[in-house]
Amino acid sequence: MASQQTSRVERLLERVAAFMDENVYPAEALYKEQVKEYGWTKAPPVIEELKAKAQAQGLWNLFLPDSERGYGLSNRDYAPLCELMGQSPIAPEAFNCSAPDTGNMEVLERYGTDEQKREWLEPLLAGTIRSAFAMTEPDVASSDATNIRTRIERHGNGYRVHGRKWFISGAGDPRCRILIVMGKTDPEADRHSQQSMILVPMDTPGVRVVRPMRVFGNDHAPHGHMEVDFDNVQVPASNLLLGEGRGFEIAQGRLGPGRIHHCMRLIGLSERCLAIMCRRVKERVAFGRPLASRDTIRADIANSRIEIDMARHLVLHAADMMDKVGNREARSEISAIKVVAPNLCQRVADRAIQAHGAMGISQDTILADAWMYARTVRFADGPDEVHRAAISRLELSKHET
Ligand SMILES: Cc1cc2nc3c(=O)[nH]c(=O)nc-3n(C[C@H](O)[C@H](O)[C@H](O)COP(=O)(O)OP(=O)(O)OC[C@H]3O[C@@H](n4cnc5c(N)ncnc54)[C@H](O)[C@@H]3O)c2cc1C
Repeated sequence: MASQQTSRVERLLERVAAFMDENVYPAEALYKEQVKEYGWTKAPPVIEELKAKAQAQGLWNLFLPDSERGYGLSNRDYAPLCELMGQSPIAPEAFNCSAPDTGNMEVLERYGTDEQKREWLEPLLAGTIRSAFAMTEPDVASSDATNIRTRIERHGNGYRVHGRKWFISGAGDPRCRILIVMGKTDPEADRHSQQSMILVPMDTPGVRVVRPMRVFGNDHAPHGHMEVDFDNVQVPASNLLLGEGRGFEIAQGRLGPGRIHHCMRLIGLSERCLAIMCRRVKERVAFGRPLASRDTIRADIANSRIEIDMARHLVLHAADMMDKVGNREARSEISAIKVVAPNLCQRVADRAIQAHGAMGISQDTILADAWMYARTVRFADGPDEVHRAAISRLELSKHET
């Protein structure tokens, strides 16, 4: 049985790799051009073409574990596939495996009612709409989610949402139809029972996208990381997920898979940066010798290889733990990779940039985007320090007297 599954994953891996070579990498430049052309008004048509092709080939929604709607892959099975997709910034969306939709689909799959699944999960799985997850707020330190101030108050026969969020990835996308919003239903309750999550359709009166937050000067259109205002937004009571006071429970369920997917993709991106670096230093000659002959360059290459392989083992270990003992029990391992993978990718991209000279920070390679992406993931889904704090807390608790 295990070997049957292994060969199934190997076959999938070959098919995903072939799809990337034939369709995804050649479309990267056109994607960038179309982003420039259409900005916020429309998703680049080439991504819809790629999605249609991937879906037709059955390379679709590979991420969803333990679900009849998914492909039947475990987190461990999915890891090498996700890593491969991470090599191109446009690949995850082409396979309908991109953030923040995968995390949101997992929330709906695990905690949604039949009606919520019909209305939102089905079109997300079909890739006809997109979604966003709204937790972070400008006015409070949101790495501590107990600080969140947005109110979700009972009002009439529904709920009223009031507050302001920012850095909400994907909320600028013209295809984004639904937000999962975290807020407080009962500020007097126990610290971890004050929060709830609720579904807010983008077109509900009172939802206003204020501006895109720039990331190192980029607005990342058409998805963006948006500031969003909720001005007394009224939604039906049936939009609440799971129940009042259960926001943290859902966050734990969502953030495990979301985090490990980021890490898998970052390993793939690190591989691509290293490959680009190796090709460049073999052909570039300075002071009479190829750069590849210099000890410092070779040390950078060797250290990158060592660190990528170490990180990959750690990610696979965390995936295995998630499959065997569950996301909650695997939280220390998930936090560990969430610290390791973005830092690794940032370092590998930085070395590759340095070896390229000025070209490394230009638009002519993906290195600058890779560095930027890795740097931002050191915040998204929890800053490094918060994950280190969680690991140390669990470690210290093993030694209570
Ligand atoms: C590109 C990008 C995309 C994002 N997408 C989303 C999204 O889609 N949805 C969403 O809700 N949010 C999103 N975020 C926001 C992200 O989740 C938050 O930035 C993160 O949780 C930190 O919250 P904060 O910015 O309020 O930092 P703060 O809470 O103000 O923390 C500031 C800094 O304090 C330090 N710190 C915090 N706690 C500790 C501690 N215990 N010990 C030591 N130091 C500590 C850390 O260095 C931290 O970076 C995104 C962010 C970025 C950059």
